[in-house]
Amino acid sequence: MAGDAAFREDIRHWLEENCPASMRTPMATNEYPGGGRRARYRNSDTKVWLERMAERGFTVPMWPRRYGGGGLDKDENAVLHEELRLINARPAHVGMGISMIGPALLEYGTEEQKTEHLPKIARGEIWWCQGYSEPNAGSDLASLRTQAVEDGDDYIINGQKVWTSGADNADWMFCLVRTDPNVSKHQGITFILFDMATPGVSVKPILLISGLSPFCETFLDDVRVPRKNVVGEVNKGWTVAKRLLQYERTSIGGIGGGNQRGATLEEVAAKYVGLDNGIIADSVLRENITRHRMNDSAYALTMKRSVEESATGRAPGAVSSMFKYYGTEQNKGRHELLLSIMGTQGLGWGGESFDTAELENTRAWLRSKANSIEGGTSEVQLNILAKRVLGLPD
Ligand SMILES: Cc1cc2nc3c(=O)[nH]c(=O)nc-3n(C[C@H](O)[C@H](O)[C@H](O)COP(=O)(O)OP(=O)(O)OC[C@H]3O[C@@H](n4cnc5c(N)ncnc54)[C@H](O)[C@@H]3O)c2cc1C
Repeated sequence: MAGDAAFREDIRHWLEENCPASMRTPMATNEYPGGGRRARYRNSDTKVWLERMAERGFTVPMWPRRYGGGGLDKDENAVLHEELRLINARPAHVGMGISMIGPALLEYGTEEQKTEHLPKIARGEIWWCQGYSEPNAGSDLASLRTQAVEDGDDYIINGQKVWTSGADNADWMFCLVRTDPNVSKHQGITFILFDMATPGVSVKPILLISGLSPFCETFLDDVRVPRKNVVGEVNKGWTVAKRLLQYERTSIGGIGGGNQRGATLEEVAAKYVGLDNGIIADSVLRENITRHRMNDSAYALTMKRSVEESATGRAPGAVSSMFKYYGTEQNKGRHELLLSIMGTQGLGWGGESFDTAELENTRAWLRSKANSIEGGTSEVQLNILAKRVLGLPD
């Protein structure tokens, strides 16, 4: 256990008073506490929990107080998270604001940008989306062609983004644009922010076979954006873009390491396979679950150490690719294990022979396959590790 006893007592008392009972249950899949102007809450406690945590700066505990954070140091932050785990508290706030653009602004934003955006991110007032990928720029992101041309104090942006998660509900986009087409592809890219309500921005959800549309095509036609919305230097956006990806990859990697929502593997095994004298009856399954849990623990500890040792205390550098790679493999492995435990009950798509948790499990299993694509594919992470961490030749 980390930290000062008085601080821990204060946190424990505050959580006892302020965390609603329904927020101490596993997160429902249809309750996404991402905030934003268009947020709708199925459970009103989700909003209450977000507001109370934001009030204390605990949605972003380590950000400075002046930007809406809690101003905690890493030991205090560890205490807060231990206490949240002890009461099984749901995350009060999730999304690209707190995990990606917020940390990038803390490092690269102007004071004006920090003051304008960070408190709104901390309070969940604005939902952000990421305009990186384009029809011909995915793994080779630096080939992006969306163009921004200077016009007085503004840029005029034209082009198309794709796979923009949540763009149809987003309030603002952080976007990569080409500002100089006459230099090598990694140069001439600029990182810029704009309101999705700006004239010329249109969004078309991509309908998946599941009937859901988690991501969109985003079209940018003569979108006028003030120059002051450029983050970092004009034509040097690749540096900001790469750092943001490290935050994204650390965040995606975090889904491994036992951070998953819902029942544990042991609870599921007890239900579907049964226990013999209190232990899982099938010895092969027992061994597979134990191995998975040991890998989860070792991985979670390595990640914690590496994040704490990083310069910002929030995300390591190129090593974040290791977390992205391993964390997503662990998460996919967990879902495969769940399938082997649940058998055909883990493959239901609809109908009365499956309960809600079973139907959600099938969808979560399919969704886990995308983990090793989003935020940069596993192959790309291995390339980065080979080059930037192991120093192997191109
Ligand atoms: C669930 C989900 C959400 C997403 N959300 C967003 C979002 O919000 N915003 C956004 O901008 N993008 C988003 N993306 C897009 C994502 O970043 C891209 O899908 C990803 O970078 C891969 O690009 P691509 O799909 O064009 O595949 P490609 O780049 O065409 O790759 C195809 C295959 O070739 C392999 N490959 C490519 N180059 C190499 C290489 N040099 N070495 C080895 N193998 C290689 C890849 O690993 C992959 O298997 C999302 C994707 C998913 C799945």
